[in-house]
Amino acid sequence: MEDKQCKIHVTNLKKNFGKLEVLKDISVDVQEGEVVVLLGPSGSGKSTLLRCLNQLETATSGKIIIDGHDVTDKHTDINKVRENIGMVFQHFNLFNHLTVLDNMTLAPVHLKLMNKEEARTEALRLLERVGLADKADAFPSQLSGGQKQRVAIARALEMKPDIMLFDEPTSALDPEMVGEVLAVMKELARDGMTMVVVTHEIGFAREVADRVIFMEGGYIVEQGTPEEVINNPKEPRTIDFLSKVL
Ligand code: ADP
Ligand code: MG
Repeated sequence: MEDKQCKIHVTNLKKNFGKLEVLKDISVDVQEGEVVVLLGPSGSGKSTLLRCLNQLETATSGKIIIDGHDVTDKHTDINKVRENIGMVFQHFNLFNHLTVLDNMTLAPVHLKLMNKEEARTEALRLLERVGLADKADAFPSQLSGGQKQRVAIARALEMKPDIMLFDEPTSALDPEMVGEVLAVMKELARDGMTMVVVTHEIGFAREVADRVIFMEGGYIVEQGTPEEVINNPKEPRTIDFLSKVL
């Protein structure tokens, strides 16, 4: 949609680890409010692509423009851009020695984006939204995996990001907890968040994704609507992958 802003603009991205070429030539745009699901076998470069977007990994070559800022340009203040990109990992990455509330308020207060009271008010509002209003003073060890991941999502939202990246957010969860995390992500998508989600949850992709991208071997093999890529894949590698996960 041309009237919407391009949030993520990647052209000819390559990423090597030593001699290993992990991303070979990735070009992709993500529009404001778009939900993109990245599918692909283990080792295809999905995590590396996400990590390049917020420069947790440095691109070997190519261009990445986030919200109009060229993050591959050394003069760009990457920390400023990162404040706008929330990231949720497979293993939650909560601070175990801090309460839920302190996990959530630490970064915005430290970065002086909010004072303590504002951060606390916002955190309580977000905890309510993810169904954990009563867990503000709990420590991560007192929470289930699904609750921890909902806290991790709320913590990312506390920074008021306008892009959210998810790297297999439900892969480490017991099956009965997957639904509660996906429900939070669905609501976020409905509210218009721009999202890039690496997941093997095909049902989520079908229901929520505007676009599905299938990656293998550091390339985008196929992309399109869920109807196109999941229900009617054209590339043999996509068909083979889906036959294993469906
Ligand atoms: P995926 O998320 O699709 O499973 P990754 O992006 O994690 O794939 O990894 C792609 C390839 O890059 C794998 O072969 C992996 O071993 C390699 N790789 C990822 N991170 C590093 C790293 N920091 N150093 C060296 N190799 C890495
Ligand atoms: Mg990965």
